[in-house]
Amino acid sequence: MNIRQIQEARELYGIEDWGSGYFGIDDQGYVVAYPTQDETLPVRLMDVIEECVEKGRNVPLLIRFPQIIGAQIEKMHDAFTKAIEESQYKGRHRGVFPFKVNQRHEFIENVVSYGHKAGYGLEIGTKSEFMAALGYELSEDAMFICNGFKDHDFVDMAFAATAMGKNTVLVIEGMDELQLVLDKIEKEPDSIKCCPDIGIRIRLYSKGSGKWEKSSGEASKFGLTTIELLQVLEKIKQARLEDKFKLLHFHIGSQITEIKRVKKAIKEASRVYAKVCKMGFNLSLLDIGGGVGVDYDGSRTSFQSSANYSLSEFANDVVYMIGEVCEHEGVAVPDIITESGRVIAAYHSVVVTNVRKVQGTENEEILSDIGIKLDGKNELKCLDELLYILDNISRKNYVEYYHDSIEHYEELFTLFSLGYASLKEKAIGEEIYHRICHKALFFSSYEEHQLEEFEDLQKLMVSKYLANFSMFQSIPDAWAIDQLFPVMPLSQHCFKPTLKASIVDITCDSDGCVDQFVDRRDVKQVLDLHAPSADEPYYLGFFLVGAYQESLASEHNIFGAINEVEVSMDEEGNWKIEKLTEGDSIEELLVVRNYDSEALVKAFQSQLQDSCSKNKISEEEKARYLDKLKGYLKTLPYLIG
Ligand code: PLP
Repeated sequence: MNIRQIQEARELYGIEDWGSGYFGIDDQGYVVAYPTQDETLPVRLMDVIEECVEKGRNVPLLIRFPQIIGAQIEKMHDAFTKAIEESQYKGRHRGVFPFKVNQRHEFIENVVSYGHKAGYGLEIGTKSEFMAALGYELSEDAMFICNGFKDHDFVDMAFAATAMGKNTVLVIEGMDELQLVLDKIEKEPDSIKCCPDIGIRIRLYSKGSGKWEKSSGEASKFGLTTIELLQVLEKIKQARLEDKFKLLHFHIGSQITEIKRVKKAIKEASRVYAKVCKMGFNLSLLDIGGGVGVDYDGSRTSFQSSANYSLSEFANDVVYMIGEVCEHEGVAVPDIITESGRVIAAYHSVVVTNVRKVQGTENEEILSDIGIKLDGKNELKCLDELLYILDNISRKNYVEYYHDSIEHYEELFTLFSLGYASLKEKAIGEEIYHRICHKALFFSSYEEHQLEEFEDLQKLMVSKYLANFSMFQSIPDAWAIDQLFPVMPLSQHCFKPTLKASIVDITCDSDGCVDQFVDRRDVKQVLDLHAPSADEPYYLGFFLVGAYQESLASEHNIFGAINEVEVSMDEEGNWKIEKLTEGDSIEELLVVRNYDSEALVKAFQSQLQDSCSKNKISEEEKARYLDKLKGYLKTLPYLIG
């Protein structure tokens, strides 16, 4: 046990900063989860993996901790309840979970059951989300918010939801959508008794901050401008639907990094709310959308991967601002609806997988296998020069010697291109040069401010850890929008990591590479990792992936959903596997791409028969190959072993 080293690891990976009390490293150097936020009740992630492997479910594996979903819902609701009590606000907090953030059935089931006590509802934005969400029985008080662009069928579904007893609000995105409601009532006058409440989404001048800033403000794709709002209000009056019109909604984008943007938007929206009330509309609900940021890097700053406020600060500011504006305008305060998804979902799941191999470390073994000695006799002068540099580079001369080595290395390539150097000489030169680069980097790390060229060299020289997963499937936002997720090894934290690494996935795409990592002060270009040993698997965890990643997952290279496990913790500290779900088999992945699995098997059969008829394989081999191929269709595409 090396307590000092373990503490260093906690700081190096920042687990206590971004882990939010849900993750840590135990005193044996293993990464643990605290599903109930009680540090005396840990679950070692390695133990979960081992149990799943024993049950025949291999990595990559998505580990879910449903209790964390419950804890986040409770934190959100409690923050508002406390803020409401403290400022003697007359309305309530009513949370809804936005379906698009994680549409997996298992996940939404957890949201609905853990959210029951707090009266959590659902927010949907498309017809398919609508149909899925309709299947859940929500608590009596829960809201059912229908956002998104609508057609006749969508509006019809909202009437059906109301008929089913759901507190449905149809949020109008434009005059055309209101017209659809009016047409429906005109055509089917009886339907008025199942007419959902009406909401209006407004477009604010105020913008969010961070990556999604562009999706808000005046240029936003969503929401009614002030002129359009006035037009729709007029139409509501004419149609005598005032008593159905209950809600105003806005959303200024996901992952809002700065609290001042929230305050500004709330101030503007509350003012609109109050003015609309004063026009004679009896509103009672203000839906402030989602956007609460997750502190992925643990820095608690306004950086893109962070947020400079806590949940209680957010709730206090929202409640205070709405209360203040309503008081100033002399209107009753609304119930506050939040549609936060990311902050509810992100923490609950971790993708874990094994490292298959490491590329880019020193090639000592290979050199001896192929009989190359670096310090042997050389005919090329540039090789001798490189060797001299390798032996004599030091902390005092490393910049100059590194520059000299580049010259000699280039000379070697010129000689090779002109036919004056052999393949063996090229191999020797490459290896010596790489070793010089490693030494130069080592010396440069002593500098208080590393020179830019060595920062660039660092990126080139990293060891590439081949991890058994698809970035496009498991952390698509890291590929698509450079989002940072905390990544770290799950064991060995008693030992100092010795290699600087990037992580490459097993897709056939060079984009499948994680080369930016969270850091409290900056973005790290390399991740500190241990040299994996042949004796035990080296597992990596990708944390805080519960929001959006499963919804956006792409099946690039036909890698589909990975195995999943739900883990819970009881009061005595015993954890157990609640559910183990198999990922997508090759057959399932092919079927959704219009392959007919029976036709595929027939095609395998006829081609094997052909080979058999030509005496290339025996009848027995034909049968064996066919059985194997049929079996492979049932397996997952990820690597085994
Ligand atoms: N509500 C609406 C209308 C949204 O578009 C979104 C996502 O951007 C959300 C809620 C959820 O936002 P977040 O997950 O950032 O809380």
